[in-house]
Amino acid sequence: MKVVVLGAGIAGITTAWYLASGGAEVTVIDRAGEAAAETSHANGGHLSTQSGVPWTSPSGLHDFLFSRFTPERTIRVRRRRDPGRFDWFVRALSAARPAACRRASARLTRLADFSRASFEALCAESGLDVSLEERGTLALYRSERAFARARKQRARGVRVFSHQDVLSHEPALAGAAVPIAGALHYPGDATGDCRRFCMQLGERSEAGGVVFRQGENVHRLHLERGVCRGVETDGGHYEADACVAALGAQSACFLRPWGIRLPILPLRGYTLTAPIDPAAPAPGGFSDPERHLVFSRLGPRFRAAGMADFTGLNEIPDWGRGAQLERIVREWYPALSCTGVEHWSCLRPMTPDGPPILGASGIPGLWLNTGLGPLGWTLGCGAGRIVADLVLGKKPPIDSEGLTCQRFHRFAKQDPTSDLPA
Ligand SMILES: Cc1cc2nc3c(=O)[nH]c(=O)nc-3n(C[C@H](O)[C@H](O)[C@H](O)COP(=O)(O)OP(=O)(O)OC[C@H]3O[C@@H](n4cnc5c(N)ncnc54)[C@H](O)[C@@H]3O)c2cc1C
Repeated sequence: MKVVVLGAGIAGITTAWYLASGGAEVTVIDRAGEAAAETSHANGGHLSTQSGVPWTSPSGLHDFLFSRFTPERTIRVRRRRDPGRFDWFVRALSAARPAACRRASARLTRLADFSRASFEALCAESGLDVSLEERGTLALYRSERAFARARKQRARGVRVFSHQDVLSHEPALAGAAVPIAGALHYPGDATGDCRRFCMQLGERSEAGGVVFRQGENVHRLHLERGVCRGVETDGGHYEADACVAALGAQSACFLRPWGIRLPILPLRGYTLTAPIDPAAPAPGGFSDPERHLVFSRLGPRFRAAGMADFTGLNEIPDWGRGAQLERIVREWYPALSCTGVEHWSCLRPMTPDGPPILGASGIPGLWLNTGLGPLGWTLGCGAGRIVADLVLGKKPPIDSEGLTCQRFHRFAKQDPTSDLPA
């Protein structure tokens, strides 16, 4: 079976790997010159198996509404008239109801657990080195009120740390210039380098026969009588028995002309990466949930990620946000190096309820692995495995209920043969 995978981020790379392992002849096409060139390039690095809850939750809605009154305004909404934007916000409001949020959370947890097991098996099988740290992660609270609320809502297995426990676990935080009321410790969470993972898995896949076409922009799908038979790029025409769209934040815009309405909005985030002084202690994986920031130690580097700006797909980054992120990072970790700091910005492909969109698209022959939102590194291996199994006609190891585009009835493609561009 010939399969073309569109996109070489974490979603595309893992799908290609599992497809090739299942015996398919795979070609991966990406407009960038290397794997993980966009959102998978420099994300926060957290593998959030225990701490990953949907952003559209009652507390997420509270933060969204009140962010404008906080000094940092870590969440911002630019007024725009993009197609589907209004519907997205209506759906997000509905998804933030407690019952809907519990449902989405259970779906995310199911996928995150499966993904972590797949990730571990894959790393062991392929000998990948992704600067993995498995000491769990800390969610640090600055205010007593937020800490008390988080303590009350914590899940089983999550430990409560006092200020003193935090410093014993993470001595490098002794220099923090912000108050620490306490923390939740998620022993099952880990941190690692998503880009390294994609690059190494890409190399292993290529050695195993997967063909990579880097630097080629995919312009259109090639449909015959309503069935997807390949794609056209600026490098030529690719025929296939199946295509997988793993185009991250670009997915909705790319598929819209074919009548596939995916409720995915781009949510811009910023990251910074700095070298660590080998002589000084550096903190490992932790987060600042009140400001939606995550921090990781990735081998000899420290990474911070955050900010959530609802902007357009093609709007240029506001580097003032990067500078703002750097100021907050220095509050937590004043010893952060002043030289060699690299800033990065990219778009999270957000669904309104949290889980990604995996599986059938409504057009026969075209499959989806997209909408991984703020948890793509965590969910990537599981999502890739599920989509590969579906393409190969196998039953995935976990139930895909609530992870497909069927949950967005109004957005799913109604008639695969109508509304096709010439
Ligand atoms: C600031 C920030 C922090 C984050 N932190 C974490 C974290 O700590 N933990 C976690 O689990 N997740 C995190 N994430 C989320 C995670 O990074 C994303 O969910 C994930 O990278 C999405 O992967 P993807 O493969 O879907 O998209 P991408 O990595 O963006 O891949 C899509 C690919 O498609 C290609 N493409 C697009 N259009 C075309 C076209 N027309 N033709 C050819 N190629 C095309 C692009 O070049 C790109 O390589 C974070 C995200 C951000 C922004």
